[in-house]
Amino acid sequence: MSDPKKIAVIGAGIAGLSLARSLHGLADVTIFEKSRGVGGRMATRHADGIAFDHGAQYFTIRDPAFHAALEPAIELGVVEAWSGIIGLSSSGARGIVDEGHRWPRFVGVPSMTALPKWLSRGLDIRLGVKIISVEGSAKHWILKTESQRVGPFDWVITASPTPQSLALMPESFSEIGRMASSKMNACFTLMLRPRSFKLGRHCAIRYDDEVIALISEGPSRPQRSSLPSLVVHSHNGWADRHVDDALENVQAIMFDRIAELLPDISKDILSCDIHRWRFANVETPSEGELLVDFENGLAACGDWTIGNRVEAGFLSAVALSEAIGERL
Ligand SMILES: Cc1cc2nc3c(=O)[nH]c(=O)nc-3n(C[C@H](O)[C@H](O)[C@H](O)COP(=O)(O)OP(=O)(O)OC[C@H]3O[C@@H](n4cnc5c(N)ncnc54)[C@H](O)[C@@H]3O)c2cc1C
Repeated sequence: MSDPKKIAVIGAGIAGLSLARSLHGLADVTIFEKSRGVGGRMATRHADGIAFDHGAQYFTIRDPAFHAALEPAIELGVVEAWSGIIGLSSSGARGIVDEGHRWPRFVGVPSMTALPKWLSRGLDIRLGVKIISVEGSAKHWILKTESQRVGPFDWVITASPTPQSLALMPESFSEIGRMASSKMNACFTLMLRPRSFKLGRHCAIRYDDEVIALISEGPSRPQRSSLPSLVVHSHNGWADRHVDDALENVQAIMFDRIAELLPDISKDILSCDIHRWRFANVETPSEGELLVDFENGLAACGDWTIGNRVEAGFLSAVALSEAIGERL
């Protein structure tokens, strides 16, 4: 029997982790992740005893394959339903109406990163390693970091957002053109700690507003601290226009707008932090969902090959692992 193929996966978000899980046992898989932890945009920042989920607020489970993969996580309590009512505030309408929803919303417990951490068990993951380029030739790829060269690998698969994938994949990758057809938007996120402010009977409110898209309340989420906390996402279009602005200016503009939308909040804030997501959401998915170059041993996956959600990241990984798995 020949040695197992060596596969490098770049990115430990839901897509990279799900891909590595599916290929685990079929090949020798190593994940390289530039951050200190796993999860990517399923992110949590800890401050003042509060776990702020400052990326994805929740995910839905629509596809049977995603449901099957997450059933054990639900049974173990790694994932729980977030059952509050989301409000919708539109400029033309009076008041806030309840958003109807067809699909239950789920979150990681006790924070959003619980699910990626659970998916990462038993996998070979190199944290804090940023890949800056992929060099070499077909089925003999070397990953370059700031300080070292790692490899060779039979396969290199990027599971990072489109612009980051485009920056590092070699020109010989036959799917470069289709990758480039995807477009992602930015987002700014404020993490607020009010003294006592609450959203009322809503767990979150979506705004039809130029600056603010969503305000979400921490304690309404399962197994969270009861200390008041809010996560505020900016509107994607507005963030795209301000993506390179100084963070303190962005924070000031967002905060002023929140105070206009929710006047009770302005004198009640104990602390405020901000995060810039350069590549937060998918505006346009790539042309074609399966981006794989069998001749060269190169491939790409991530939410942006399918849509704009956590579940899209998972499904893109499943489709790719099925295609590649057959040939390993
Ligand atoms: C503000 C915000 C709100 C959102 N709200 C929702 C929501 O409510 N519901 C929902 O379903 N989805 C939501 N999403 C989208 C959801 O988070 C994503 O669809 C999903 O997490 C994408 O997973 P992924 O694995 O494809 O990519 P990512 O999670 O982005 O993972 C990619 C990983 O690659 C790593 N990486 C990148 N470049 C390199 C490199 N050169 N070397 C090494 N590692 C690298 C990154 O650090 C990252 O960990 C939201 C996202 C954001 C940012």
